Amino acid sequence: MRACGIRQSNTCRQVVQARRDYLGPIRLGVKCIRRWVDVLDPRCARLNDEMTSLERVKAAYSLTEPDRIPVFPMVTYASGTPLGYTLREYCHDAKKMVRGQLHFQERFGHDFVLSFVDVWIFAEAAGVRLDFPDNNTPNPVESPVKTMEDVERLEVPDPRRDGRLPIIVEGIELLRREVGGNVAIYTGGQGPFSLAAEIRGLQAFLKDLYLNKELALKLVKFCTEYMIEMGRAEAEAGADIVHLGDAFAGPSLVSPTFFRDYAMPYDKLVFEQWKKEGVLTSLHICGKSTSIWDYMIETGAHNIEVDQTVDLAEAKRKVGGRVCLTGNLDPSAVIRYGTPADVEKKTRECIQAAAAEGGYVLSPGCVIMPGFPPANLDAVARVARESGRYAQRN
Ligand SMILES: [Zn+2]
Repeated sequence: MRACGIRQSNTCRQVVQARRDYLGPIRLGVKCIRRWVDVLDPRCARLNDEMTSLERVKAAYSLTEPDRIPVFPMVTYASGTPLGYTLREYCHDAKKMVRGQLHFQERFGHDFVLSFVDVWIFAEAAGVRLDFPDNNTPNPVESPVKTMEDVERLEVPDPRRDGRLPIIVEGIELLRREVGGNVAIYTGGQGPFSLAAEIRGLQAFLKDLYLNKELALKLVKFCTEYMIEMGRAEAEAGADIVHLGDAFAGPSLVSPTFFRDYAMPYDKLVFEQWKKEGVLTSLHICGKSTSIWDYMIETGAHNIEVDQTVDLAEAKRKVGGRVCLTGNLDPSAVIRYGTPADVEKKTRECIQAAAAEGGYVLSPGCVIMPGFPPANLDAVARVARESGRYAQRN
């Protein structure tokens, strides 16, 4: 029996429902049960929950208070490492990706599963040749775009047919079958600015923005169309949240006016179309994004993901109530190289900074790489359970 497992067995659902139906008003009794369950097995924590993971995430994205703070570990290929998969295997096989995600979610009991591999999957399907080592992220070897004619020849890839894109779509369908409706299924694509930079080559693309703007913007528009199609396929397959990663458009690399003029309008177009498919949306920008928060909100995303270089309390002060915030434990210094005590301290600080009045998802600032100590993610889950419950529901 997998009463405590991720798949929300009937037993699990029945217990949660019974709590809602019969135990809800008996507050003292419920608190006692919570304590006992936590002591018996942290992975049984879902028995303490009044919402499913998906309900919890939806509440946060809608800027309200869930039963407790949702936890998003931002793990892709690192979830395949404990099962013996190389990074390359994980990124080339939907079934391995899904096994990694399910195993990981079962182990740590967080609120999301991801159908997502390396970010280069999108540029590759548009014609970028990659060198893909066994245990490292791929490197671009050759771009298909050198001239305007090359841009005009590009065709929007078919998410169900071209390159490795079907891995993401199939992954969503498999996850849907396993945990759909209970755990939030998260997927996505690349912001058109970043994807254009990946297809053309970053340096050449940035030069184009000064010297050959027509080519650069034609490529960004192609990427906009491409991402709209990608998100549609992901929504049709059953995704709950579709995100754009737009790291190259962030202030760590280009000025805020570049984001405003060449990234924000296109991210906005993509999100508008994705929302019509009924999915929640999220925007991930690495680095110190403080100077573009208003523009990030203007894209219309339900949620913005901020990394560890950002002051989370300042983010909450400035954008809280206007957009859901996700962040921002340091995935390297804290999650990878910290001790469980460091993780507990930093997790409490995040909760203190951003949890008030809901609209917050606890997560690392960026993707966690393989090799982190499992005890550190246990610590995140433990603190979220202990300190992340919203008062009116206790
Ligand atoms: Zn990032």
